[in-house]
Amino acid sequence: MTTLADPVPGGRPGDLERVAALTAGLTTRGVHGVVLAYVDTAGVGRVKTIPVARLEAAAAWGVGMSPVFDTFLADDSIVTTDVLGSPDGDLRLYPDLDRLVALAGQPGWAWAPVDRVTQEGEPHPGCSRTFLRRIVARAAGEHGLAFRAAFEVEWVFGLDDAPEGEFVPAVGGPAYGAVRQVGLSDCTADLYAALAAQGVDVDQIHPEYAAGQFEVSVGALDPVAAADRSVLVRQTIRAVARRHGLRVSFSPAVVAEGVGNGGHLHLSCWREGVNLHAGGDGRYGMTAEAESFAAGVLAHLPALTAVTAPSPASYLRLRPSQWAGVFAAWGRETREAALRMVTGTTGRRAQEANMEVKPVDLAANPYLALGCVIAAGLDGLTASRALPEEVTGDPARYGPDEAAALGVRRLPVSLAGAVEEFRTDRVLRAALGPVLADAVTAVRLGEAAAVAGLDDARVAAAYRWTY
Ligand code: GLU
Ligand code: MG
Repeated sequence: MTTLADPVPGGRPGDLERVAALTAGLTTRGVHGVVLAYVDTAGVGRVKTIPVARLEAAAAWGVGMSPVFDTFLADDSIVTTDVLGSPDGDLRLYPDLDRLVALAGQPGWAWAPVDRVTQEGEPHPGCSRTFLRRIVARAAGEHGLAFRAAFEVEWVFGLDDAPEGEFVPAVGGPAYGAVRQVGLSDCTADLYAALAAQGVDVDQIHPEYAAGQFEVSVGALDPVAAADRSVLVRQTIRAVARRHGLRVSFSPAVVAEGVGNGGHLHLSCWREGVNLHAGGDGRYGMTAEAESFAAGVLAHLPALTAVTAPSPASYLRLRPSQWAGVFAAWGRETREAALRMVTGTTGRRAQEANMEVKPVDLAANPYLALGCVIAAGLDGLTASRALPEEVTGDPARYGPDEAAALGVRRLPVSLAGAVEEFRTDRVLRAALGPVLADAVTAVRLGEAAAVAGLDDARVAAAYRWTY
């Protein structure tokens, strides 16, 4: 479980007592540096690093970093809000020592996610990890709910020595093909080893549909831990690939045409150890609460896409009939609906039943995405919102009238369209708070403006190696 308590100047209770042992353990393992990692509003992973000897000071007092990254765009240009984007000010990065891990793919390094705190010792209102901790605490306090979550990770392997900026798949062969598995046999075996050494339980790795594409799915954890894990898994894939002379991209659309990289979110609600998505009286064993939670997510999905699909490149991926889930609808194991209800197999339903949110990609800040999806679900739960009829097959086959009659909405087709939805979504804005909500709006509008007038190929190229 993730501690839901905020870091405090002087150190979280208990941290200083154990940091000496952690430091000694890392030093014995040949670790010299610690990567302090967070994800900015644009979904870009940002880091600072410290020598292992500074870990104790970092646990007690944090490490300085400007708040300006909250309004950085993916190309490192900066937009502003009323309170963010200024060159003034400083924040303290506090590592979560529970998540500190020696990086198997980067010998000599350890890694920890951070929460960001002001110099006055207050939680930074722009900190996405703090936001997710708050939502999880609220769900527990107000609803007695806990969650299990996991992000799938899809990516492509490209040749490192390809001409500047180009994507040349590192391996050929069919989707899910044995040819591809053999082609990157050593690299993916090293990936299994690295993830296992870091305590990441992997369900599976497989060659995916697009050229050079692979996917890893990992075990579910509490939401903050699941978001941390998604960041760690990507750091590991990138590092292992590098050691094999390969380059990776998690961008939603590495090239303009065809199937992109998703970052589907699996989520289930639990009360007192019982999965609310199984064993109930609702459809496919869902409890009434699970149905209402899902209905809340569905209702907010058009606005959620501004958070879960935050890049102009996201909208190259979000096309019908590519399993990206671009219709606000749900269905059992329906891969074209935005919400795919996963019942699990007979005998495992109580453990495995969950819902998969598909219009999520890896340009998304996983803390913001998960926090907003949970906020949307809680809104549905509070309102006892009714889950509409399920869909089967590809909703793309419906004409506009049929879709309207079934209540099936196409999700926004552009980032600007998603921002329009987000701006009027009071539930998401209230959950985020004004600082984060304004940061989301400003960064998305900045991102849309940055690619204005570019054709699809150039949009894909602009973000190809950022994510
Ligand atoms: N690559 C697809 C996407 O963009 C997902 C394929 C799948 O269902 O795993 O989301
Ligand atoms: Mg997949």
